[in-house]
Amino acid sequence: MIVIKFGGTSVATAQRIEGLADIVNDLRKKHKKLAVVVSAFGGVTDELIKMSRLAAKQDGDYITVFNGIRERHQIAVKELGLNRDKALHDFLEETFAELHDILHGVYLVRELSPRTLDFLSGHGEVLSAKIIAHYFKSRKMPAAFLDARTVIRTDESFGSARVDFSVTNRTIREHFKKSKSIEVITGFVASTFKNEMTTLGRGGSDYTAAIFGAALDAKEIQIWTDVDGVMTADPRKVKKAFSIRTMTYTEAMEMSHFGAKVIHPPTIQPALDKKIPLLIKNTFKPEHPGTFISTKTSDPAFLIKGISSIDNISLLTLQGSGMVGVAGISARLFNSLSHAKVNVILITQGSSEHTISFAVKPEDGARAQQAIEDEF
Ligand code: ADP
Ligand code: ASP
Ligand code: MG
Repeated sequence: MIVIKFGGTSVATAQRIEGLADIVNDLRKKHKKLAVVVSAFGGVTDELIKMSRLAAKQDGDYITVFNGIRERHQIAVKELGLNRDKALHDFLEETFAELHDILHGVYLVRELSPRTLDFLSGHGEVLSAKIIAHYFKSRKMPAAFLDARTVIRTDESFGSARVDFSVTNRTIREHFKKSKSIEVITGFVASTFKNEMTTLGRGGSDYTAAIFGAALDAKEIQIWTDVDGVMTADPRKVKKAFSIRTMTYTEAMEMSHFGAKVIHPPTIQPALDKKIPLLIKNTFKPEHPGTFISTKTSDPAFLIKGISSIDNISLLTLQGSGMVGVAGISARLFNSLSHAKVNVILITQGSSEHTISFAVKPEDGARAQQAIEDEF
């Protein structure tokens, strides 16, 4: 069993979905069983969020964005030759009618809770997975639509929900025991124990693939995207960036946490726990070997694997001669931050012990400063 995930750009148009089906058919020759996780059509999640925020501001333009999203899916269905598929047609009608009703509610009450935003923004994946499953069937591929909300259970941290792995793993295994098809799975979405829709954080479809891969003891998890794997730097910022052939889980984890968007950071952990290799591939260049992530790296010449960056970050520095040689300063510093519920992203201390610098999210910056001023 392998789990394959296709990101937004790989499913952006009917033509790309046709190419994706070719890739899946090719992989079927080598692998007996596979599961496919898909993102929303490229840009659709952003549009769903924009539409929801407009409705909450009682801006009537939300309906224009809504119509645009609906039309985009209708065009894809038509171009994929599925316009006579009655079941798909009914599903789309019902889904858009439900989204429309809820949006109208948001518009009337001028309120968009994180729970409602998850419901609205997660529907890009519901639509794309359903359409792709029907398209596979139209090409005589043995496919089935799997709504991840029925198997991935999370807490109620809407927007970035935490997975309950004991229940999720069991439910996924039970589902796959009965399945003989290529399951086409909605990335990004899950549900609470009260069956409310949650999302796994922006970029979370990679994580969905890792959750399924780990639960099913997959031989490999493949992330198909729009670049030649993990590169030495973001190719949009550094023209000479080149792809890294092999990396360790730890290296990939560091790079993704520090801004290499090509892998959503939590994705590595489930794969690492089960030692399942991750392969990052380019949908537009399937012949390119991509990046293979496992416990080993075969290229000791490249001791430094890459450079990544985060654009928005707050850096705070605590400094003073009173810190030199005094035990317990860092304990006090980080305790005060922990009490203020500030998450620290990076820490450095000069060997002179004269300064400790640390990075936090910009929204935590003022709270961090206040906590330190109170403590010291
Ligand atoms: P998908 O929609 O397939 O999930 P993403 O846009 O989330 O794709 O991730 C792929 C993008 O990540 C690339 O187009 C690239 O701009 C960006 N990226 C940032 N850092 C890196 C890196 N070190 N290596 C490769 N891609 C990177
Ligand atoms: N569609 C979601 C997003 O844009 C999840 C993903 O693409 O991984 O964040
Ligand atoms: Mg992504």
